Order: sequence, then structure tokens, then C-alpha cells
Amino acid sequence: MVEFEFWWLLVIPFFFGLGWISARIDIKQIISESTDFPAAYFKGLHYLTTNQYEKAIESFTDAVKANNNSIEIHFALGSLLRKTGQLDKAISLHVDLLENREMSINQQESIKAELAQDYFNAGLFDRSEELLLSLSNESYKKFKFNILLDIYVKEREWEKAIKMAEQLEKISGVSFRKEISHYFCEIATSMILSKNLSQAKNSLLLAIDKHKSCVRANILLGDICENEGKFDEAISYWKKIEYQKPEYLGLVASKIINAYQSKNKISEGLSTVSRYYDLYKLKTLLDTLFETVISNEGPKRAEKIARNELIQRPSLLALDQLFQALAISKNNQIDNIELIQQTIKNTIGDRRFYSCTSCGFKGRQFHWQCPACNSWESFPSEPKDITLDETK
Ligand SMILES: [Zn+2]
Repeated sequence: MVEFEFWWLLVIPFFFGLGWISARIDIKQIISESTDFPAAYFKGLHYLTTNQYEKAIESFTDAVKANNNSIEIHFALGSLLRKTGQLDKAISLHVDLLENREMSINQQESIKAELAQDYFNAGLFDRSEELLLSLSNESYKKFKFNILLDIYVKEREWEKAIKMAEQLEKISGVSFRKEISHYFCEIATSMILSKNLSQAKNSLLLAIDKHKSCVRANILLGDICENEGKFDEAISYWKKIEYQKPEYLGLVASKIINAYQSKNKISEGLSTVSRYYDLYKLKTLLDTLFETVISNEGPKRAEKIARNELIQRPSLLALDQLFQALAISKNNQIDNIELIQQTIKNTIGDRRFYSCTSCGFKGRQFHWQCPACNSWESFPSEPKDITLDETK
């Protein structure tokens, strides 16, 4: 059903009014003002509206030649050059304007803002940062903070990124909790690498403080404790993920099993992971459960798990596991069973992937930050693999 939009009612009186106004305005004056803009400028605008960027650039270049005084035309040409990736030309145009023109402070600031974007797109982050920091006009604040945040993230300057994101939160009202928690995790990761464990822990606690459901911080806290031989503490951090976002439990299932194994309490580990599996039915939990059962309780038990799974949720993964258990127990009537199992494994191996929910990038590895579009937590917690339904 098409909904009637009431603002349509305003359209007719609006045009009526427009006619009345235009009858009273000196048309000659308007024409004389607009002739300051050469015809090529309007041609350029036309190309812009029809997305013919290269032709628009040609027209604006002509327009700049015809009226070299107009800052506006330079502006249009400059941002068009940047949008079409001709960054060197955009930069030299903006630098030329800044260095060789007499302009008001406001005009200077707007050209600096343009140039800062040129530099940013060209990867010249230091120059971009310097220009952005020099902008004093309040109206550029949000624009400036957003690009500065991008710069600090790209340059992995996490302390600065945190400060910038907090300022952006204040002025925009948009939450950056998730992002900030990852910045703290990034700081912690580099501290772990430099064996600065107590500071790493502090940073991770700050991550959770900022964003209660920061799974990554609990994973890393558990990793640190495990490294220190504090297995109970490690397990308790990983178990917290169930109350944050249980869909991420697959990332810690084998860590939990290993920690219990180090305590010689593998059966406790197994019952924890199988409880998770019963509740959340994650493929990665099934993987870990199956591997642990097959090596600790033997192929008979593992066969039962795979068979149950195959009946309830048919998938190549479960089929592979069933054949794997059968191949080990040699309890089968089928020739070449190992060959069949290997074939299924290869098929699944080729088709499992994570796909970024922001940009569609596909990868074999899980990432907290998408390598393509830099979004945080845009990868699903579980890899996608082909099911029997999809092979039809
Ligand atoms: Zn992405």
C-alpha cells in the first residue's frame, strides 16, 4: 500500500509562491550575478548530476581557466579530483590556493579541510593530522575528530584513538564503546608481546569497564593467566563469555579443554564444552568436542556424537566426523572409507570461511577487525560452511 505523504500538499502552494517571488525579483540582476560563473561550470554541474565524473572534471578545469578568481569553482574541481582518486592533482590545486591567494580565515580553513582529506586519502597521515589540528572553526570539530580517529587507528596509536573516540562520543552522542574496548585490547596485545603482563591486565580490565560485553578482553585475560600457570583463573575468565556473548564460545572451547587437561581434569573440560554445545549448538564447539572425545574416550563415543548430529542437523562437517570415527574404529563395511572421509574433509576445508557483515570481505581466519574495511567485530563468531541443503 502506498502511504499518502502529507507534505505533498505543500508542493502546489510552494510553486505558487515561487512564481509570485520570481515576478518581483530583478531577473537581470540574477543573470548578471550568475555570469560570474562561466558556462563550463554549469556544464560541469550537469555532468556531475549524471555521474560523468571525467567530463565534469574537464568542464570544471575549463571553468577555472575562464574564471580563475572563483574559489568556489576551484573547490568543486578539487573535491571532484579527490573523489576520482586523482590525489596528486587535488593536492597541488589546494596547496596552490592556500599559498597564492588572499582569502578570509573561513575560506582558508575550508581549503585546509579539503587538503587534509586529500592527504588522508593519499596515506600522508602526518600532514593530514597537522592540518586538522590547525583547524580552529567550531563547525569543523566533528569532521576533524572523525578523520583524526581514522588516522590514529590506521597508525595504531591506540592511546590517542581512545581520547579521540571519547571526545567524539561527547560531541556526537554516538557510542564508541565497542571501538574503545578494542583499542584497549590492542594496547594489551602489544603489552603481552613485550611481556608487560600486569599492565596488559589493567588495559583489559579497562576494556571491560568501557564495554561490558567485550569478549576479546576476557579471552586475553584468560590467555595471560594460562601463561602464568593459573589455570583455574584462566578458565573462569573464558567461562565469563557465556554471559557476555555465548556465540563466541567456540573461540575458547579448545583453550578450556587444554587448561582442564593441564589440571588433569579432562572430563570436567569435556562436560563443560558438551554443556555449551547442548545449549548453543555451535559448529566450532562440535569440532572441539568431537576431537576431544575421539582422543580421550575413543571412536565409539565420538561416533555416537557425530551420528546424533548428522540426524539432527545434517551437514558435511558431521558426516566427515562420522566417517573419521568409523575409520579409526575400523568398524565398517565400506571400502576406502578413509578416502571418502578425506574427500569430505577437503571439500569442507575449501568452503569454510568468515564473511565480514560490513563489507562482505571473505577470509579463512577470524579477525576482530576486518582487514578490508577496518570495522570492529564485523566477522561472525562462527565460520560459514556449506551444509547439505546448500549443495542441492
Ligand atoms: Zn569488512
